[in-house]
Amino acid sequence: MVVESIPQPVGFIYGFLAFVTLIGLWYSGRFTRRRAMPFLIASAFFGFLIFAPVFPYQLQLVVLGDTVALGSPVPMALGALLTFVVLALIVGRIICGQVCPAGAVQELMYLLPVKKHNRAGSRIPVAVRAGVFVVFIAASLGLSVNLLALIGLSDFFHLAAMSASFFVFLAIVLLSATIYRPFCRYICPYGALLAPAASKALYQLRRTDACIDCGKCERACPTGAADPAAGLGECYLCGRCTEVCPVEGALVYKRREKKIT
Ligand code: SF4
Ligand code: SF4
Repeated sequence: MVVESIPQPVGFIYGFLAFVTLIGLWYSGRFTRRRAMPFLIASAFFGFLIFAPVFPYQLQLVVLGDTVALGSPVPMALGALLTFVVLALIVGRIICGQVCPAGAVQELMYLLPVKKHNRAGSRIPVAVRAGVFVVFIAASLGLSVNLLALIGLSDFFHLAAMSASFFVFLAIVLLSATIYRPFCRYICPYGALLAPAASKALYQLRRTDACIDCGKCERACPTGAADPAAGLGECYLCGRCTEVCPVEGALVYKRREKKIT
């Protein structure tokens, strides 16, 4: 369905505006999952319409040095991708939360009312993703293999149902109805860069003195990141924890220096 006549920068302009708006919602304390829903839908839509801003695929093209598919010089695309990694050091994984179409599609699938299978807090997804990242780099630089094309990231959004790889990514998307963001947590090479940055982010979700230790946020979190002992690298800023918190001001998005937990 991707409409090639629409320039990809349109998708990146949307992505930037969504990113800024979401920062504003979190910073002002007005982020809710209901308010985030239009961004999830719009991001998924832009993925199918323009195939942008699909950040992991841009990273794949940068590593392959594919300027034709990128539509821009490699240094420019690399600079933009690294800028968002640096921004994750300040605001966390807002890009992953509701802006990246690959993440948005999985987040929407996870809303389906089917039984969930998550091992929240397990380090296995992070370890697997780190291994995949090494394979991704080796395959790209050593063999010029487009790993993300092989697993169908591009074919899925292009609705190229004649291709076998389309069904690989379709299977991942279907899996995301029951397992939270399998592509993001086990595979995404861009997520592998964003996660360590987000774990050190200046602004993070933190508990305050108002917390009554009811544990509702931890039970609602599909990744285990709501546990104060866990790092926030796997926090996708989905808003499930803040939605279930029964005490006003107990769980807030704020500067790291002020953390109390
Ligand atoms: S982890 Fe990767 S695929 Fe998932 S939302 Fe972030 S950039 Fe997109
Ligand atoms: S529920 Fe977990 S992943 Fe979602 S915002 Fe809260 S800590 Fe982050």
